[in-house]
Amino acid sequence: MNVVIIGGGASGQAAAKLCGKLNFSCRIVEDKKDKILPPADLIVTSPGVFPGRSELYRQALDSGTEFIGELEFAFRHFENRILAVTGTNGKTTTTELTTFLLNALDVPAVSAGNIGTPLSELCLGPMTQTAVVEVSNFQLERAPTFAPLAAALLNLASDHEDRYIGGFEEYCAVKRRIFDHVSPENRIRGLSFDWPGRRVTVNEGDLLIDGTPVLALSETLLAAPHNTENLAAAAELVLRVLPAGKLTDGRFAEAVKAFKPGRHRIETVAEKNGILFVNDSKATNPAAVLAAAAAVERPLVILLGGLDKGMDFSPLAALADHLKTAVLYGESAEKIGAVLGGKVPCFSCGRDFEKAFHAAAAAAQPGDCVLLSPACASMDMFKNYQERGDRFRELAENWRPETR
Ligand code: ADP
Repeated sequence: MNVVIIGGGASGQAAAKLCGKLNFSCRIVEDKKDKILPPADLIVTSPGVFPGRSELYRQALDSGTEFIGELEFAFRHFENRILAVTGTNGKTTTTELTTFLLNALDVPAVSAGNIGTPLSELCLGPMTQTAVVEVSNFQLERAPTFAPLAAALLNLASDHEDRYIGGFEEYCAVKRRIFDHVSPENRIRGLSFDWPGRRVTVNEGDLLIDGTPVLALSETLLAAPHNTENLAAAAELVLRVLPAGKLTDGRFAEAVKAFKPGRHRIETVAEKNGILFVNDSKATNPAAVLAAAAAVERPLVILLGGLDKGMDFSPLAALADHLKTAVLYGESAEKIGAVLGGKVPCFSCGRDFEKAFHAAAAAAQPGDCVLLSPACASMDMFKNYQERGDRFRELAENWRPETR
């Protein structure tokens, strides 16, 4: 078998190693180096290759050769159970939580996919653990036989629309493909969907499994509505692997209480002069910003802006009542200003993040929260969202109230 892999990032490299294990010959090609796609029996693309902007991708489409994504390639060779997670927001948190809960309940599990370790990488080892796979819509575009045991679709909101000619509708249709090869009872939907098969519910602040209360959300770090959605989906996934009795006997509740969501997700980084500084750099679309605003119970001075992914920012208008001031920066500043202007005092700071931070801190009073929840990707000004969040933390740590 002769495989050509488009894209030499982590997924492409892992797919190449898997080819090695399978004794397939393989070659990695990249748009910046290669002009012509070589002949192959199978073409595999990394999720990071952007279809409309890649000549090699276009050639692959025209080649008549079978053309799949790295996830599909790995799936064909992965020999254990897969639980899959997709949705616009909450994928990483839900994936990590599901893995954490399974391990706590003595089901060896490992997170993979979009979260960092490509599934191809897991295929290189003994494959003795259940894989909990974070699946992006990029991966679902070319995964025609991907068949996890169970899959969760957390939510759907505007994101990545620049990738699809069919806009939001097409984006949603791609996400729903996660269920194509999953049995109906294992097609899990987040709490925002009407889903008659639901076994995990929330009532008066308690999480219930098949109607039995198992824990008070207030005792966990997942009490904000968006994280409760993630928890409910994770518990549904665990229920596809273990009987309900294993989730109602106390150990499950203890594990949930021990779980801490990852950094850059509504993360308090400083409190000074009664002002809370919260880093939500991972919020790269408007729906995630609304989740942050609902979670932080203080008047907000918010930092918004960054790379424009062709998104609809109009949902941000719902924030108007929570916002004292919006500080806008980066490529999308103007587009966001068009939504919030007239409703909320807005300051534009061009591409100067430090200036934006200081404008926000100066606008905040004791009792307020300065929130970085940008609604945009970071790559117009930063390497990635982590660098943006770390910069915010550093500025917050060094900020002195007397410098206002
Ligand atoms: P993803 O992997 O889908 O980007 P993360 O768990 O990394 O999801 O969270 C990304 C952002 O979305 C963070 O700002 C987080 O606070 C927010 N978020 C997490 N879960 C949800 C949810 N269920 N609904 C809305 N926003 C969420």
